[in-house]
Amino acid sequence: MKKVSVECRNIRLSYGKTEVLKDVNINIEPGEFFALLGPSGSGKSTLLRLIAGFNRHNAGQLLVDGKDISTTPPWDRNIGMVFQNYALWPHMTVWDNVAFGLVERKLPRAEIRAKVEAALDLVGLSQYAKRRPNQLSGGQQQRVALARTIVIEPQVLLLDEPLSNLDKKLRVQMRQDLLSLQRRLGITTIFVTHDQEEAMTTADRMAVLDHGVVQQIGAPSTLFDYPVNRFVANFVGTMN
Ligand code: ADP
Ligand code: MG
Repeated sequence: MKKVSVECRNIRLSYGKTEVLKDVNINIEPGEFFALLGPSGSGKSTLLRLIAGFNRHNAGQLLVDGKDISTTPPWDRNIGMVFQNYALWPHMTVWDNVAFGLVERKLPRAEIRAKVEAALDLVGLSQYAKRRPNQLSGGQQQRVALARTIVIEPQVLLLDEPLSNLDKKLRVQMRQDLLSLQRRLGITTIFVTHDQEEAMTTADRMAVLDHGVVQQIGAPSTLFDYPVNRFVANFVGTMN
């Protein structure tokens, strides 16, 4: 699979009169595991939804692989998103949840079967194909959501606080699983979190967002050792 870059250039977005993203500039390298860190309400989900195509920016450009996709509808973007609440279909089995996007794309049945099997295998859920979401643990549901997204082989993977509903011990375990999966697939990934430790221990590079303004971008160690302002120092410095 081709590794692609994601570039936000001077992106602005307002809800009514409230400006939520204020001139956001971020360059994400092909294949990078990039964390977007910020407190609640800082605009993380808004930016992710904008990249996925569910929000439209008022100004600026969004480039994937060097091409401006600002007006491309979400279904043509080749971008996969895992939502914070997973958004699984409760009445469908794990298998059907994962197959859903492929069925919609009207792929041949044998191809669907092969891809779903591979995706379930990747997240370690092959044995759970016939279960329904409510018969699974939180961590397993999270992995179904991940399988359902990677099965369509997106060029960019967007993860909106994918681990925040899990307890601490599982979160630490799953962050490693997530990272090793990302490394195996080599897919450009944007990982949204409000958890400093989670960003610091996983990301190749990270951006710290506050009130819709990017405060600093860099490697975790750079932000930790050389924060550009008090906000970054406090936010990145406090491990919880
Ligand atoms: P985060 O994901 O970092 O917690 P959000 O992107 O969800 O932040 O929200 C950023 C700001 O935008 C918040 O002040 C929030 O209240 C506001 N907001 C989010 N979605 C909407 C919406 N659909 N309409 C109006 N305001 C919104
Ligand atoms: Mg959010």
